[in-house]
Amino acid sequence: MKVYKTIKEVKSYRANLKDLAFVPTMGALHTGHLSLIELAKEKPVAVSIFVNPLQFNDKSDFEKYPRDVERDLKKLQGVDFVFVPEPEEILGERLTKVSVADISTKLEGKFRPGHFDGVSTIVATLFNIIEPTDVWFGEKDFQQVVLIEQMVRDLKFNINIHRAPIVREASGLALSSRNERLSDNGKSEAASISKGLFKMREAALKGEKNIEKLKQIYRDLCTLEIEYIEVVDELTLDPITSVASKSRALTAVWCDGVRLIDNVSLYA
Ligand code: AMP
Repeated sequence: MKVYKTIKEVKSYRANLKDLAFVPTMGALHTGHLSLIELAKEKPVAVSIFVNPLQFNDKSDFEKYPRDVERDLKKLQGVDFVFVPEPEEILGERLTKVSVADISTKLEGKFRPGHFDGVSTIVATLFNIIEPTDVWFGEKDFQQVVLIEQMVRDLKFNINIHRAPIVREASGLALSSRNERLSDNGKSEAASISKGLFKMREAALKGEKNIEKLKQIYRDLCTLEIEYIEVVDELTLDPITSVASKSRALTAVWCDGVRLIDNVSLYA
């Protein structure tokens, strides 16, 4: 497995490949990331590890974000190359921004101003460097994959975007690099997020269409400080008034001073 720090190295390796799958990450790799890589392996695979400063609206969240590249590299198997750039290699002068209107200001965007502009700007930059034919994103960051799909359509990137399902702990807690910052007690409390979401799903599958009632099921089960719980149309990400064919519940909560997100589909 090659480890490249520069765009030049990536380009010279890339020139010898026809197809290339790509999994962008911010490191602190866990089984969720590795599941994306396994799915991507139908083709040669590139992984990037870059903690993107532009997507952190909260400076201390950026500073506290877990980083351990040596440990990450040991976890990667069957990957063709890993791109681990220094910030200057990616950011440069950085006068240009990629912003996906509308999607970037809904849901998460309301609570994390600038976050999605930071994501789209750096993901577009990575696409131009890596030139992948296929890219894998997790549904854990549901709004992110919807945003990237829109960006790819708008900017005519010749890339297939693939969605991968959320990987969870046995407790139901969605795997996240941020879970490393939770206490044991916080971790067990955080299991109540998915308990609440799964109960909403169960009720919706049994025919409950009333959004307020569904949200209340979540509020009754989730023991943490809830920043939001929303039910939206999966395509537009707009809130809906009654459960329809493609509805999804999304939430953000606070646990031990760490912000956690999760989501679930409300259809079979
Ligand atoms: P991150 O390192 O947090 O930027 O995540 C890199 C990629 O891994 C993104 O596409 C995430 O959606 C995906 N990912 C993170 N956690 C999970 C998970 N628990 N299950 C599936 N995919 C995940």
